[in-house]
Amino acid sequence: MEEIKEKINYIKKILLSKGYKMTIQRNEIIKLLLITEKHLMADEMYHELKNKGIGLATIYRNLELFKELNIVREINSIEGRYFELKIFSKKCMDIHFKCSKCGKIEDIYEHDMIYNILNYNRVIENNTGYEIKDVSMIMKGLCNKCRG
Ligand SMILES: [Zn+2]
Ligand SMILES: [Zn+2]
Repeated sequence: MEEIKEKINYIKKILLSKGYKMTIQRNEIIKLLLITEKHLMADEMYHELKNKGIGLATIYRNLELFKELNIVREINSIEGRYFELKIFSKKCMDIHFKCSKCGKIEDIYEHDMIYNILNYNRVIENNTGYEIKDVSMIMKGLCNKCRG
């Protein structure tokens, strides 16, 4: 719990530096993203937070702000948009696996793969003149449980 407090304080400083306050609602949304192990959709967050008087519109509004400030990452999938904290993530890229049967979303950490993608980015930048800032990818298939 101590670690969560420190992380919330860190985000509070970012908000303040951009001219935003850490409101009770923002605090609750961040806390939920910190303690949850899952990737959450806005309505799942609403389900968790409605007993604290936080509405869906407030959640969407703040998620947009957190995205703008690079605190939260949005993962787009056919079923909808999922959110996770980006700020304390060790990942330099947004690479996920999604089970097409049970819908579970997992982070993918593969050092070799990330190394290779960074190399491809460099090739693409050289060929096109683009500046690539992030990579977003969803791999789809069956998780261990659904395979069995
Ligand atoms: Zn599955
Ligand atoms: Zn993730």
